[in-house]
Amino acid sequence: MPDDAVTMDKIVSLCKRRGIIFPASEIYGGIANTYDYGHYGVLLKRNVVDAWWQAMIGDRDDIVALDSAIIQHPRTWEASGHLAGFTDPLVDCRTCGQRFRADHLDAEHDVRCPRKPSVLPGQGPDCNLTEAREFNLMFETTIGPVQEAGSTVYLRPETAQGIFLDFKTVLGFARRKPPFGIAQVGKSFRNEITPGNFIFRTLEFEQMEMEYFVPPDDAHRWYLHWLEARMDWYERLGIRGDHLRLRAHEQDELSHYSSATSDVEYLYPIGWQELEGIANRGNFDLTQHAQYSGEKLEYFDQQSGERYVPHVIEPAAGVGRATLALLCDAYDEDELGGEARTVLKLHPRMAPVKVAVLPLVRKDGQPELAHEVRNLLRRRMQTEYDEGGSIGRRYRRQDEIGTPWCVTIDHQSLEDRTVTVRDRDTLTQDRVAIDELPDVLAGKLEAAWISPKVAA
Ligand code: ATP
Repeated sequence: MPDDAVTMDKIVSLCKRRGIIFPASEIYGGIANTYDYGHYGVLLKRNVVDAWWQAMIGDRDDIVALDSAIIQHPRTWEASGHLAGFTDPLVDCRTCGQRFRADHLDAEHDVRCPRKPSVLPGQGPDCNLTEAREFNLMFETTIGPVQEAGSTVYLRPETAQGIFLDFKTVLGFARRKPPFGIAQVGKSFRNEITPGNFIFRTLEFEQMEMEYFVPPDDAHRWYLHWLEARMDWYERLGIRGDHLRLRAHEQDELSHYSSATSDVEYLYPIGWQELEGIANRGNFDLTQHAQYSGEKLEYFDQQSGERYVPHVIEPAAGVGRATLALLCDAYDEDELGGEARTVLKLHPRMAPVKVAVLPLVRKDGQPELAHEVRNLLRRRMQTEYDEGGSIGRRYRRQDEIGTPWCVTIDHQSLEDRTVTVRDRDTLTQDRVAIDELPDVLAGKLEAAWISPKVAA
């Protein structure tokens, strides 16, 4: 179990307090496993997604981007195996009417009997569980005004299938040959019934998935490559190395399509859990879609005359789980001037706001100069202006959302055009000339960084 101050309750309450992430439909009492992201949450999530795109298409030449539809032809899910096989075993309690995952009725998953929370479901005196039934996780809806046969469609439970459907089209446009990848970020939907754990498991969530198409004989080598590349990526977001691990799936855990899968796991306050799955999907998906659609989904190498169905390595990550890992990894509490401080020690490049510009007082020309400084910085990085409340309170507000630097405009600033730059982690305050400030802060943003929680 983690050894630092963080708990899931503290993360939930910080996120709510600062409007980072909060329950959806709250005025109607909320809706199960569904959350909204407020201003800072949107900025944080956007930084995660941007870092992923940078790693996939900014830093490499062999991957192209795609944005495919959420609702695809229903045959997609027959071919992919989701219609028949994407199920969880569920049991219902005839007494309390609650539904539980049959494979989660153990102490490890910490699901409790609603009538007697000291015991697991099924162990209370009044519990009366049904036999387990397989329940498909896909949300169904209908196209057209009448619910007639043939119009049933599904909200995608993963973004990957859209990539396979477009394989041939993209291959034609992208002028690439295996090994090459197609990357996509977008919402997926699963009718998850497991309760709780904040944004770890939600009904709708954003995935960052990349299908990497390779010659069959190279598949294992590329699988190993992506295991390492994806672990590195999380470390580059500033997540502590000792809170990350790779776990290979046992044979009986493998999905129907996979010959090898490893999860990148993070040590959340609820224990080690999956952040991302990296699977060797073989040629399962392209072969299935070729069979169901009648289209040839293969690669023809004009030089060698060779024709083959590429194998696929898939790193599939969740934006919400990465965001939650960043929040948990950064959360810290300390004491400042005799007062408790909550601080998010986020990697500066991940922080929602990079710099807050704060006039010490709301008079004497300080707000005007502060606005000038803010305008100087805003094109270079995400900034915020705040003049409300004591300077200590304003620092504390920025600490809570993980802002790495606060620039304070004071009496001296009006005389010599210098400001103080306060560092969130070291708490040092340096005087910097306003003209040099954009470059100084941009330099700090580019600098190598390790979590101060590592050194602690
Ligand atoms: P789990 O075993 O936790 O249900 P999974 O193995 O079904 O996850 P994948 O199908 O491999 O998940 O999906 C890839 C990634 O998408 C996961 O690693 C996770 O980050 C994210 N993800 C999947 N389901 C959810 C969900 N319900 N809520 C939030 N993120 C999810």
